[in-house]
Amino acid sequence: MHDYDDQNIFAKILRGEIPNDTVLETEHSLAFRDIQPQAPVHVLVIPKGPYVDYDHFASAASDAEIVDFTRAVGEVCRQEGVQEDGFRLISNAGPHGVQEVPHLHVHVVGGRRLGRMLQ
Ligand code: 5GP
Repeated sequence: MHDYDDQNIFAKILRGEIPNDTVLETEHSLAFRDIQPQAPVHVLVIPKGPYVDYDHFASAASDAEIVDFTRAVGEVCRQEGVQEDGFRLISNAGPHGVQEVPHLHVHVVGGRRLGRMLQ
């Protein structure tokens, strides 16, 4: 089940109810800086559609949305200049993934050497 809560904070950002520091906007995606950055570069990329997590997006989104989102993530990496030295993409889902905001987001993290991820 993928019940979408349209009161989540990213839904409010998409509706313009909460400000954000946008780095890229495309037809189907929005990328903005994380409010609590964990590295010099920490950008969240979200689809504009109401998708809870990656599984929901991959199963319900249109091909156009998926292509747009995938390209948006790559464009953010290039725009932020992390593609040379490397970066990490993270998408937390559900309770085990410790997902805080129930709207699909990919964290683009870089700008420094990151520690080992899995704990
Ligand atoms: P999650 O744990 O769901 O993968 O990550 C949610 C992320 O959203 C966290 O890194 C958190 O700092 C970020 N975040 C939460 N509220 C806001 C907000 O209002 N604006 C922005 N830009 N980021 C937020």
